[in-house]
Amino acid sequence: NSRFTSLPPTPPDEPFAVNGAYIEDKDPQKVNLGIGVYRTADGLPWPLRVVEAAEEHLHEAKNVHRHEYLTIQGDREFLRLATDLVFGAEAKNSTQLMTGPDRDRVVSIQTVSGTGANRLGAELLARNIQPGCVWIPDPTWANHHTIWELAGVQRKTYPYYNNASKSFDFEGTVRTLSKSAKKNDVIILHACAHNPTGADPTQEQWKVLSELCKEKGLIPFFDLAYQGFASGNLEQDAWSIRHFFRCEPKLEFCVAQSFSKNFGLYGQRVGALHVVTSTVNHQTSQNLLGTLCHLVRGEYSMAPRGGSEIVRTVLGDKGLKNKWFDDLMTMSQRIQQMRQALYDELIRLKTLGKWDHILKQIGMFTYLGLSETQVMKIRSRHHIYMLKSGRISISGLNESNVKYVAQSIDDVVR
Ligand code: PMP
Repeated sequence: NSRFTSLPPTPPDEPFAVNGAYIEDKDPQKVNLGIGVYRTADGLPWPLRVVEAAEEHLHEAKNVHRHEYLTIQGDREFLRLATDLVFGAEAKNSTQLMTGPDRDRVVSIQTVSGTGANRLGAELLARNIQPGCVWIPDPTWANHHTIWELAGVQRKTYPYYNNASKSFDFEGTVRTLSKSAKKNDVIILHACAHNPTGADPTQEQWKVLSELCKEKGLIPFFDLAYQGFASGNLEQDAWSIRHFFRCEPKLEFCVAQSFSKNFGLYGQRVGALHVVTSTVNHQTSQNLLGTLCHLVRGEYSMAPRGGSEIVRTVLGDKGLKNKWFDDLMTMSQRIQQMRQALYDELIRLKTLGKWDHILKQIGMFTYLGLSETQVMKIRSRHHIYMLKSGRISISGLNESNVKYVAQSIDDVVR
């Protein structure tokens, strides 16, 4: 008799379960709009051209250290470049943020991609700040709930999405947090391209949210999984974080940075956690870094190096970096074109309902607005796979299937 027989069943992770069901489906017309990964116009994965170029460089260099351990903090040059990317060393106007003492406000550590950064940040705060609760947007990337549940922090939600206007519920968010959030509560914010809704706050709304965080003494926790992937523009996609960084009096906050989507390095697990402090104090920063390293050492010693070397090679080379910008444009523009194609087709078919939110929402996902029953119907009748919330990954659309998808949506909403 096993000592594990008393374990209860665990519900499957939805995006991976939907993906599994899609793979099992034998219908030739099946379409996968479930999982959040980039696909080409032929429906295939796309190793970025710049990643292939960097891999060649690394292969030719035959560095004897290439399979050695990183430090517990990670690859420091990778971290320096990753920090600049988020906080903007290259900002073209007067906001040269990351020089002098500003840089010293940020303590960074390499992580097992964005998930690992979220997890490490949660662990840091849970153990050392003991927040009363974490405010999670409703809806959100489902793993936020798992991560904060495992960190043992009470979870509350704020109403993120207004179903009627199909946009960010600014009033609901402000009302809820003003009324109920307390000092040192954490608030999860998607820096850009909110998953699953594709609906983001405007710059004016971000300004109000930063004021609210200051007034209430909240700890913002930015999840940055789509920088450059959302708009094709790295500066624009990091605007919210850079605004919070500039705020006076200074805010303290975390940023969980992922390179899965913007470099197409999903399985390589490349990311970083940045913790921004309000004052610059060498001892505090050292102790903070020490605490993070201690947590990492006890979990997995250090992050993997394969993917971060690719990212470091690209970000450290002007020519490769320009190539990367082109690749980001290719991905974000294809997604934009597919938004337009789906919208045009639904309009052409005079499909019941309003669809302009498809064009307004940004990033990889759109919240289509189908009910769970309609989602199940489109799966069983038409072999089209999406999350039960009606979230679709636009990237699963292409010239060969977009008409079919639109006709199928048209069928299930009638
Ligand atoms: N946060 C959000 C909002 C995401 O959508 C994702 C990817 N689906 C992640 C974090 C983390 O992804 P990864 O661990 O691959 O970096």
